[in-house]
Amino acid sequence: MSNLFDLTGKVSIVTGGNGGIGRAIAMGLAEHGSDIVIAARNQKKTEHVVEEILSIGRRCIGVQCDVLERKDIIKTVDTAVKELGDLNVLVNNAGIGQGGELPQDIALETWQNVIGTNLTAPFMFSQIAYSSLVKSGGGKIINIGSLYSLSAAGGNAPYAASKAGLWNMTRSMALDWGKNNIQVNMIVPGWHRTEMTEGVLEDPNSSSSYPSHMGKNKIISKTPAGRVGEPQDLAGAAIFLASRASDFMTGEYVRVDGGISAGDMAWPPSRDE
Ligand code: NDP
Repeated sequence: MSNLFDLTGKVSIVTGGNGGIGRAIAMGLAEHGSDIVIAARNQKKTEHVVEEILSIGRRCIGVQCDVLERKDIIKTVDTAVKELGDLNVLVNNAGIGQGGELPQDIALETWQNVIGTNLTAPFMFSQIAYSSLVKSGGGKIINIGSLYSLSAAGGNAPYAASKAGLWNMTRSMALDWGKNNIQVNMIVPGWHRTEMTEGVLEDPNSSSSYPSHMGKNKIISKTPAGRVGEPQDLAGAAIFLASRASDFMTGEYVRVDGGISAGDMAWPPSRDE
C-alpha cells in the first residue's frame, strides 16, 4: 500500500512559516514531499527557511506577506499558483500573543490587531485560496488554534476570543466546503517553546509579562509528558492533516499538548494564587 502520508507533488502555503511552529510544520510537510510557500513579513528569516527547504530537494518560495493586508494575501496565493502550481494545502499558522492585560485596560488597537492576525487573516487566506483548492480537486486547510480555542484564558481575552473564533470558523468552513472535497481542521498546540512563549517558558515560577500564575515549572508539573513541547512536536499532526490519511476527517481538531489538558488546567487556577 502506498504511503498514506506522502505529500509528493503537493503545494502548501504556511503562513508565519519562517519561525517557531510554522517553520517546523513547513519542514515536516517538505520532508514528506510537499513544495512550500512561506508567507511572512521578515524576509531575512524567510530566506533562511527557504534555503533549508531547497536544500532537501523541494521547491520553495518566500513571499513577503503581512496577513493583515488583503492585497498581500492575494499576492501570496497568485505567486504560489504561478510559480508552483495549484494549491493543495493551506496552513493558517501566523499568530500573535497578547501580554497579560485585563479587559478594562486593553486598547482597542490591541484587540483589533490580535483578532485581525489570529482570526480575520485565516478567514481571508482561506477565502482567497478557495478557488485554487477547488481547481486542484480539493485540499486541506489546517488552522493553528490554541488550548484557548477550547477554554477561557484570564488576562488574555483578545487571544482567547480569536482562537475560539478560529475553532468555530474551522467547523463552519468544514460544513460549507465538504462538497468541494476541502477538509478544514485545526491543530491545538499546548505549550511549545518559541519566541511567542519564551517570556513564560524561561521563567521558572511565574511571569509578569503574562496573565498566568504559571511559570515553566508549574506547566511541566501539570504535563504528563514531563516537558514543554518543541515546535517539531507539531509536525506529525500537520503531516497527517495535510495528507490523504485524513481524507474522511473534517471540522475536527488534533490536540498536541503533552497531556496537560487531561488534568486540571483551570486558568488561573484559583482566586488566591
Ligand atoms: P512565533 O512568534 O514564534 O511565530 C509567529 C509567526 O507568525 C512568525 O513567523 C511571524 O512572522 C508570523 N506573523 C505574525 N504576525 C504576522 C503578520 N501580521 N503577517 C504575517 N506573518 C505574521 O509564534 P509560534 O510559532 O509560537 O506561534 C505560531 C502559531 O501557534 C500562532 O498562531 C500561535 O497562536 C499558535 N500557538 C502557539 C503556542 C506555543 O506554545 N508556542 C501554543 C498555542 C498556539 P513575521 O514576524 O516574519 O511576519
